[in-house]
Order: sequence, then structure tokens, then C-alpha cells
Amino acid sequence: MNMLKQRNRIEGENLKMSTLANIDWDNIGFKYMQTDLRYLATWKDGLWDEGRLVKDNMLSIGECAPALHYGQQCFEGLKAYRTKTGDIQLFRATENAKRFNRSASRLLMPEIPEAMFLDAVLQVVRANAAYVPPYGSGATLYIRPFMLGVGNYIAAGPAPEYLFSVFCFPVGPYFKGGMTPVNFMVSDFDRAAPYGTGAAKVGGNYAASFYPNKLAKDSGFADCIYLDPLTHTKIEEVGAANFFGITRDNEFVTPASPSILPSITKYSLLYLSREYLSLKATERDVLIDNLAEFKEAGACGTAAVITPIGGIQYKGKLHVFHSETEVGPITKKLYDTLCAIQFGDMEAPSGWIIKV
Ligand SMILES: *Cc1c(COP(=O)(O)O)cnc(C)c1O
Repeated sequence: MNMLKQRNRIEGENLKMSTLANIDWDNIGFKYMQTDLRYLATWKDGLWDEGRLVKDNMLSIGECAPALHYGQQCFEGLKAYRTKTGDIQLFRATENAKRFNRSASRLLMPEIPEAMFLDAVLQVVRANAAYVPPYGSGATLYIRPFMLGVGNYIAAGPAPEYLFSVFCFPVGPYFKGGMTPVNFMVSDFDRAAPYGTGAAKVGGNYAASFYPNKLAKDSGFADCIYLDPLTHTKIEEVGAANFFGITRDNEFVTPASPSILPSITKYSLLYLSREYLSLKATERDVLIDNLAEFKEAGACGTAAVITPIGGIQYKGKLHVFHSETEVGPITKKLYDTLCAIQFGDMEAPSGWIIKV
């Protein structure tokens, strides 16, 4: 066995044996918690420094940082999972690294070498292994990499310096005690412009969605559905998650559009539909006037995995899919399959899992 392999094996054993933090794992919800260490690297004069783990969870940046004034910022969200044997693993983290760089490039921010991104994530998870929830709790370690344009620079242009950081904290399963469908309403607002930043994971898209989200919540809905910004006839996103539907002839369908954020969960479900459930799976237009073609519908993303959609309110009418209270069988099967892969209970397609 070579040295590196041996070291990784020993570290793996240590992670497995490490004592867990004293946390009530069954009641953590989805909220920030300060963990022990986070990663911080800076970019200056065309180069990233070597990066390091730091204790302090406060950042010190100039008051004139472009991230603060012009929104030059991007981020990612992924999770680490504890398996039955006590090991820790990441799900499709390379895809997060790639998407992070696409987001960064769109805002004229420097890319991070994929290996550096993954190394930062691994360092943070290892340093906070005590916060990776135990197998069976349904809880996971949420990981948030982000980049900020910093340095005091008032012109509306790209920052002279950048910060890249990764922090993490444990989060509970989105649905405690099983999935339950929720209702959504179609918003009159747009999340992104037709050829804007919809496909980039950037803070500005989120800030713009808080108001429509509040309107939906005030009307008793979980969140809003955004239609395509050009014609307002096709479904784009469900809040900050992607949409999918199961047609009456068992086809998995998800919208295709350049202004949708390309969800890694969505592409995983497309693959699982084809390869594990033997369904036809397609990316194409989903017309808001033709919801009757679907017998089930859901929203997907890393945070909740799948949120079953009970109904969609549009032009004063609630269109109900499978049921307002029960999860459809294909939605359930997709959810169970994806979770089994993420937690290591089922063999993953090659390249999907990185062992911590
Ligand atoms: C992050 C995000 C998603 C979900 O992407 P995943 O890779 O599945 O987590 C969907 N829509 C928006 C707007 C997002 O920011």
C-alpha cells in the first residue's frame, strides 16, 4: 500500500471513530450553527494563495468591496452523508466544483481549480467530522462554499481581490416523519432575465426572490413558481428548486431553459429515472396551461432532495396533481432511490461518490 493510500485509510478510521458533537440530532432543523473550522483562501494578482483552515467565523473585508455593493458573489450548496458503517461521503461534489466555476466566470470572478475546491471541501468536512450526523437520523452536514469580490473598489467593475471560503453545519432532514406534498402559486414576478444570470448560483437571484416568496407565503403557499421570463407560458423554477413532473404515460419531464439553475439533484433524477426506474426521461418545455399532462409533480434540490407538489395555483385555480396529502408512487421511488445512493445504502453510478 502506498503512503497516501495508507494515510487516507488511517484518516478514514479516525473519522469513523471520532466522537460526535453533543447535539440533539433529531431536532436540528435547517439553520446555521457555528462549527469548529472553516476554509479561507484569497486571490490577488492573478493567483490563489494556498488556503487554510481558520477558527474565526467572522470575515473582515473592506467597506467598498464589490460583493457588498454590486453583488459580485457566487456560492454552492452540497452535503456530506454518514453511511451505515460510519464512513463519511460526498455526493457529486465535482459537479458543484464545475458549476461554481461557471457561476464565477459569469460574474468575471476567477475560477478555482477543481482539485482545490474539492480539497477545501474535504478539509472542512474532516475538520468538522464530529458534526456529521449519525446514520439513520436522516440529518446531514450541509456545506456552503462561496466566493466574494473584495478590496476597496468603487467603479462598477470586477473586484481586485477575491475571498473563497467553505463552511459547514449539520442540518436535519427537510421532512421529519416522511414527505408531505405542499402547494405552490405561480408568481407574476420573474426570478431571472431571459439571458441574465438565472443559470448562475449567485446571491442577486436570491435577493430578488425574497419579495415574491413572501407574497406566496402570505397567501398560504410554500413558495412560488416562476414562469419563463420571456413568454410567461412555461414553468422555470419552483422557488429555489427545479421542477419535474411525471406524465400520465410515466415519463419524467423537467423544463429546459437557459435561465434555470442547472440542479445537480435534477440531473441525478433524470439519470435514475432512465437507468434505475426504466422510465423515459426528458428535458423540454413544460407549459403552465398543460399541467393536466402530469399525474405527479415535485421540486428538487440539495436541501430537500424532493418536495412533492400537491397543487399549483394559477389564474385563481388550484391544479392538484396526485393528491394534496399523499406522495405519488414514482416521486416516492425516486426519493428513496436517491437517498439510498447518497447515504451509501445502494451502489452509486460511477463517479458520483467521493469518500471523505
Ligand atoms: C441551488 C439551486 C437549485 C438546486 O440545485 P441542486 O444542485 O440540486 O442543489 C435549484 N434552483 C436554484 C435557483 C438554486 O440556487
